[in-house]
Amino acid sequence: MARRQRTGRSLSTGSFRDELIELTQQGRAWLEWQHDCGGEALPFSTDLEQVAAQAKASLTRTAGPRGNPAGQAQARQARPSPPTSTSDAARPAPRTVAKAIDVPSSVEARRLRLEAIARETSACTLCSLHEERKQTVVARGNPEADLVFIGEGPGREEDEQGLPFVGPAGQLLDRMIGAMGYQPEDVYVANIVKCRPPNNRKPEPEEMATCIPFLHEQLALVSPKVIVALGATAVQGLLGTTVGITRLRGTWKLYRGRTPVMPTFHPAYLLRQAEKKREVWNDLQQVMKRLEQRPPSADPAKAPRGD
Ligand code: SF4
Repeated sequence: MARRQRTGRSLSTGSFRDELIELTQQGRAWLEWQHDCGGEALPFSTDLEQVAAQAKASLTRTAGPRGNPAGQAQARQARPSPPTSTSDAARPAPRTVAKAIDVPSSVEARRLRLEAIARETSACTLCSLHEERKQTVVARGNPEADLVFIGEGPGREEDEQGLPFVGPAGQLLDRMIGAMGYQPEDVYVANIVKCRPPNNRKPEPEEMATCIPFLHEQLALVSPKVIVALGATAVQGLLGTTVGITRLRGTWKLYRGRTPVMPTFHPAYLLRQAEKKREVWNDLQQVMKRLEQRPPSADPAKAPRGD
């Protein structure tokens, strides 16, 4: 059944719903952007199309020119301009999140800042997870990577070695990365929390909220083109949604209104549910398409094995 927009265009039920979902996501990202920049008031308009156009224009400016190194460098040097609908003079000073993503322009300075984050976390006692950790686990891989994988938190082996994804799930992740045509050292891998939750339990929301500023800054410094969120906790930490991973996986989301995020299943889940590997492979193929990356073989039968 066709529906008719205010503009008079007719849309199918499916495309109307998709457009509504996209509009809602863009609106949410715009509101988060306003919040991060210290905005305390919103412009009011009865013209929803005008509001949507403003949100879209804001997101376009915030995202910067994709795939353009000069544009990315420019984006690193200057924080995004706010939407013109809020008065510059009336805007209060940015909050701590904006301060946390103040990104140096040089590669070397960004590397040094990432090393400083690792040192800061190693002494961190901001949440109770520090009590049983052997060491913090911050990241592994390329700090200039186009592709970033985010998981939940360290497990026993990660806690021992101080690196993320080094146990069986990490070995499967590396095979997935290899199937995408990358080496593990080409990508950047990190977690929502830096300390191992006791008995590998899921991190509590307060623990995630306490630790997430470290990850926000890591992601601002790495500035990837695409993020893959591995499992429900990663999605919750990055996107702030508690919608189940089964519903979200395979659909593009936006991190902070800027970076595309592909939610998919966690490798640890794939070790238990091998039949889900096909779905993950489909998700990763979407990522490769976005990055214009050709896999070594386009044959789905050669999707990563977990055994
Ligand atoms: S999990 Fe994060 S916030 Fe909590 S103690 Fe470890 S580094 Fe600090």
